[in-house]
Amino acid sequence: MTPGSDARPHETLPLLAPDVALSMATATVATVEETEWLATGEAIGRIAAANVVSFLPLPPFDNAAVDGYAVRSAACHGQPPFRFPLAGRIAAGDPGTSPASADGCDIAIRILTGAAVPQGFDAVVMQEHCEFDGEAVLVRRRPATDDNIRRAGEDVPHGREIVSAGTLIDPRHIAILAAAGFAKVKVRRPVRVAVFSTGTELRQPGETLGRGQIHDLNRMMLRALLKQPFVQVEDLGAIPDDPQRLEATLQLAAAEADVILSSGGVSVGDEDHMHRLVVEAGGTLDVMKVAIKPGKPLTIGRLGNAVYLGLPGNPVSAFVTFSLFGRALIGKRAGCTMGPPATQPAICEDELIRSPGRQEYQPVRIVGTTEDGLPTLSVIASAGSARLSALVAADGYIVIPAQQDRIRSGQRVTFIPMAAML
Ligand code: AMP
Ligand code: MG
Repeated sequence: MTPGSDARPHETLPLLAPDVALSMATATVATVEETEWLATGEAIGRIAAANVVSFLPLPPFDNAAVDGYAVRSAACHGQPPFRFPLAGRIAAGDPGTSPASADGCDIAIRILTGAAVPQGFDAVVMQEHCEFDGEAVLVRRRPATDDNIRRAGEDVPHGREIVSAGTLIDPRHIAILAAAGFAKVKVRRPVRVAVFSTGTELRQPGETLGRGQIHDLNRMMLRALLKQPFVQVEDLGAIPDDPQRLEATLQLAAAEADVILSSGGVSVGDEDHMHRLVVEAGGTLDVMKVAIKPGKPLTIGRLGNAVYLGLPGNPVSAFVTFSLFGRALIGKRAGCTMGPPATQPAICEDELIRSPGRQEYQPVRIVGTTEDGLPTLSVIASAGSARLSALVAADGYIVIPAQQDRIRSGQRVTFIPMAAML
């Protein structure tokens, strides 16, 4: 659809299979370019803007993995026990310089976990396998080279990449960055997401409902789903189905945000204005409907520099399409590669008959576990794209392929745990 064309755009784009829609839509999404430096500890939930390479080997020096005695394995002649005079003590933090062996005979050194292994010593024997008689150490087991020693660089060699560009930084990345001594890390600036609801019927929680009115829940739900450090939400409110106000909101959102996230108004009713308004504002639409249930009217396009994501108004449809598409698109705009929610195999205990055509997301409860450890699932019968109680009760969704017209009791299915969708 070319900007300004007067054909009705939703009559021109075909119904797309969900994987086609997702790959088409993500292909055109550009990553925000600006970056900033953050203290490593503050970078949690942000997206690494560059590959980070360790300038240090980790660990930085050979050190003891246990409390015990450092010995030279080559000095253990004959059969155990081996007896060595005790010639010193090294604790974590001591420089661990090698004490000279006074009379040329071999020695043992008391060494504690994390302490530097002195040069020339190639094994640490656990204290449980030794005995100290006040003068000498009796080693009851034959040590071998490298026993209980964490070698310099065995974890991370010098020059190894420890965090790659595009990583969503979690506590594990903070740990390895800190280990390598990085006080700061370069991250992408947060992606700005302008969120608004559409619908003349919407009132805010706290407001009294007149007849025909409902509470605007999508905006709060979406704000909650977007509550992540790499996202900065611009809340543009709930806009009535008034083309002029909606257009002004779209223009404002396109000027201020990297992603425009609306709900409602993308279907084919008389008050569904969003397709036409995006195109009239100079935008383009890439996806206008997707062969999924719920969520068929999902719309994806561009307006100015912003990605436009028009979620259906039905709350369950908005939830499912946000989880399946919104997160991946916003993630890519933010500079991160996030796949769709992870799935796992499970067994459906219920029989389910349906009309084929669209890939369906059916809410389920986990009711048990098979002998092989697969979750067993029960279908939540009273589901529908407007039924929040089913969404709240669900432990996840099963994915029913478009062409499948039934699920037999005991059939293996693809399951998305709810945690992967939140
Ligand atoms: P629409 O996609 O605009 O046709 O809306 C589909 C259904 O979702 C209608 O019943 C709307 O009243 C409802 N709906 C739309 N937006 C919201 C919202 N923000 N919160 C709750 N329900 C909504
Ligand atoms: Mg509406």
